[in-house]
Amino acid sequence: MCGIIGYTGVQAAVPVILQGLERLEYRGYDSAGMGIFENGEIAMYKTMGSPSNLKEKAPQGSAAKVGIGHTRWATHGAPDEKNAHPHMSADGKFAVVHNGIIENYVELKRELTEKGYIFRSETDTEVVAFLLEEAYKGDVKSALSEIMPKLNGSYALGILCSDYPDTIFCAKKSSPLFVGIDADGGYLASDVAAFYKNSGKIYKLGDNEIGIIKKDGLKVFDIDGCRIRKTEVKIREAQRYEGKGKYEHFMLKEIYEQPTAFSATLENILVDGKIKLGCLKMNREKIKHLNHIEFIACGSAYHAGVVGAYAAQKLLNIPAFSFIASEYINRSSSADENTLVVIISQSGETADTLAAMREAKKRNAKIVSIVNNELSTIAQESDCVILTKAGREVAVATTKAFSAQLAVIYALCIRLSYSAGKIDREKYKNYCTELSKISEKIGEFLKENSYAKSIAEILKDTDYCSFIGRGFDYCTAMEGALKLKEISYAHCEAYAAGELKHGTISLIENGTPVVAVVCDSSVATKTLGNIKECKARGAKIICITNDENYKGDADDVIVYVPKTEDIFSVSLSVLPLQLIAYYTAKLKGCSIDKPKNLAKSVTVE
Ligand code: GLU
Repeated sequence: MCGIIGYTGVQAAVPVILQGLERLEYRGYDSAGMGIFENGEIAMYKTMGSPSNLKEKAPQGSAAKVGIGHTRWATHGAPDEKNAHPHMSADGKFAVVHNGIIENYVELKRELTEKGYIFRSETDTEVVAFLLEEAYKGDVKSALSEIMPKLNGSYALGILCSDYPDTIFCAKKSSPLFVGIDADGGYLASDVAAFYKNSGKIYKLGDNEIGIIKKDGLKVFDIDGCRIRKTEVKIREAQRYEGKGKYEHFMLKEIYEQPTAFSATLENILVDGKIKLGCLKMNREKIKHLNHIEFIACGSAYHAGVVGAYAAQKLLNIPAFSFIASEYINRSSSADENTLVVIISQSGETADTLAAMREAKKRNAKIVSIVNNELSTIAQESDCVILTKAGREVAVATTKAFSAQLAVIYALCIRLSYSAGKIDREKYKNYCTELSKISEKIGEFLKENSYAKSIAEILKDTDYCSFIGRGFDYCTAMEGALKLKEISYAHCEAYAAGELKHGTISLIENGTPVVAVVCDSSVATKTLGNIKECKARGAKIICITNDENYKGDADDVIVYVPKTEDIFSVSLSVLPLQLIAYYTAKLKGCSIDKPKNLAKSVTVE
């Protein structure tokens, strides 16, 4: 969840670390810190809040050539300076930055306390520093080999040891860690974005591996101390760091990148009017014998999964379910070798999703992953990876990655349906043709956004807003409510329109805003009835529809989106809701790209 950076080389380390932290900031920004070698000793600088605050504290002119940095997303202990990383061993020999959670830290802490260690932070990380001190007999690699089996949970570790002032040590289990080597030195980071312009060769550290980074190279060992030869990984240009360009926020830039994200994703999938998903490697018989399909994800990707479940059920006529990843194990799915499990994660590192995927694998299900990073752990562990080509997404609130996930989900459901003989050739061709037009429709709709600014004026003072819809429109309502609440901090609730009367219609008063999505033609008239129920109780209706025949009452606010097949409708109806969320948060002066308490790549369970 946090960002780790490290550098050992010929350049001054402080600016390299500060730049790396800035690029990793989307991963965590409640506190930050760095440790560098100054006169052979480890000096530490820490701050609350974002890495940009560290600029004021860090010694910008320092001659140090080696150091590690960390931007934290607190899991254990408040986001204050004492809990900020790096954490030092008691003898001052080791400085440790950590991403992840040491699940058995309470037990380890008790043992260490009994041995006389005095803990200065509330973090789980500090046990690693003390365990290293205890195990160290002059060789850091051996000390790591000794302590790693004791650590339950997940960790990516960056370590300085004062006996080796030219070296960064690292190790990992379940949390991502990359090493870059170029003419200027060796780098360590949780994400390749931090390497831009700096790195020649990039390597991904594997679970239970130990890395020793010096300015001229990397040596990797397994937990028994045996040398491992690593092969270089190739990074797509799209995954490298890019600035905000002409946009005020990354979120706005990314909203406008949706036509490209959608079309680039389909580029090698929808070819000559046909859907090609070679990596599926499922013949007709296998597809026909699928007992059910499961879509597993978190956050917005979960909403994409709900779209997938609705679309798959409709097109394949077999049971299709969407699961919140962290609940997957608790619900004990009945997946087996005749089940297709679709895993959706922008980063491909989402810890909850990864854990659910591993559970589905244990049940022998066929795993298809939809990720935006081919180097990610989820990509590497799935049977078939379908890449979204959204490019790097920086804003915590996803927009373009969500759109790209939908593009893959549509293609997958249509392809499976056709292969299983559930739709005929003509229907298949019609779907493919319409799918190929979606990105243009997205681009066309995004040209005008004045409505979003006016609606933001209505929403900026509200502390409660209801989002309703049926069928695919319910999926849009869920995503729209999440967008508005995550970046504007207003309490928003998505309700299946028919369910409102069984629950929160009691919250509707004179002037309560209700965003109603009416684009799924199969259920539109029913939703119109639910709108009437809300209006009768004084709601202010903001209606998102694609049907000009829908005549709202004079005081309704209506936004028209382009018409499409029902199964693709979320791709268009979600757009105004993203812009409305953006402009509402802007009017409220919220931190749009980095909402409080959230982080982009959620690598802790
Ligand atoms: N569990 C550690 C802490 O709370 C690391 C959290 C992170 O990954 O940022 O300090």
